[in-house]
Amino acid sequence: MKPVLYFVIPCYNEQEVLPVTAPMFKTALEGMISDGMLSPDSKIMFVNDGSRDKTWSIIEQLSSEHTCFEGISLSRNRGHQNALLGGLMYAKERADVTISIDCDGQDDINASREMVAKYLEGFDVVYGVRDSRESDTFFKRTTARGFYKLMKGMGAQTVYDHADYRLMSRRALEALSEFKEVNIFLRGMVPLVGFKSTSVYYNRTPRLAGKSHYPLKKMLSLAIDGITSLSTKPIRLVTGLGFFVTLVSFAGIIWSIVQYFLDQSVAGWSSTVAIVCFLGGIQLLSLGIIGEYVGKIYLETKNRPRYIISEETEKKD
Ligand code: UDP
Ligand code: MG
Repeated sequence: MKPVLYFVIPCYNEQEVLPVTAPMFKTALEGMISDGMLSPDSKIMFVNDGSRDKTWSIIEQLSSEHTCFEGISLSRNRGHQNALLGGLMYAKERADVTISIDCDGQDDINASREMVAKYLEGFDVVYGVRDSRESDTFFKRTTARGFYKLMKGMGAQTVYDHADYRLMSRRALEALSEFKEVNIFLRGMVPLVGFKSTSVYYNRTPRLAGKSHYPLKKMLSLAIDGITSLSTKPIRLVTGLGFFVTLVSFAGIIWSIVQYFLDQSVAGWSSTVAIVCFLGGIQLLSLGIIGEYVGKIYLETKNRPRYIISEETEKKD
């Protein structure tokens, strides 16, 4: 029995790029089917993440024209990570293996053949890693590099330069589904799932049409989510900082007592103000970081659904 592959492709307001990339996905899939690597029941599945443009009607159109296309639609925009998870969990019931990929053509679809080859060799997880970022702007490149460095420094292990282009077997997805957290950062969670994994390398090309949905603000929020959902190192850093400041203040107290006995104490207005401000700042920072985690706990305890599917494309057999 040849394995059934599902491409899982989240789409948010992608009406410009979808008509360009959909045929590319189709060609790649058909190539692998005709080469006998995959079952003819393999599919390209789009996850419409509450798009406000014509994305869903394009998906419906595609699925009515070709049996290899399928789609589900989320009830509203939930963000890339939730859309991807929703798609993967849906595909898990139908496929032996999935490949998640963005719909903008930035991730080289041809690398998926190598991924499938690795799967056939017995790997459960295959990461797509970019071997060059020349096509990204200087700004995007440096901020993205900074992002991985920050993540690593803060104790969140991720595969360097790997985004969400990856192959996962059903077994790995079953394990991933046991991770019940609401704040999801798949890049950090998949390595925790374990199993035999490897990487394939590809060139990242510019977006074929439309524009990025990851401005700096969203990247920062992804970084904060990633760090706080994977590691408690920032809290420990705050504790360390608090400890250090306490030591420094002790030295200050001893110094002021010595000055007092040496009869050299002057009206130390500026030093007092400086210390008060400094401590105030540190305290606010610490409260902020702790608050970030308390907020996460609050969200997790509510145990809300991470995605809600509202529609599916027509089934045809
Ligand atoms: N995306 C999504 N929901 C969102 C934002 C983005 O499903 O709220 C999808 C988008 O359609 C694309 C992928 O996530 O397929 C990556 O987004 P984008 O290309 O804008 O990010 P970049 O490649 O610039 O980091
Ligand atoms: Mg992109």
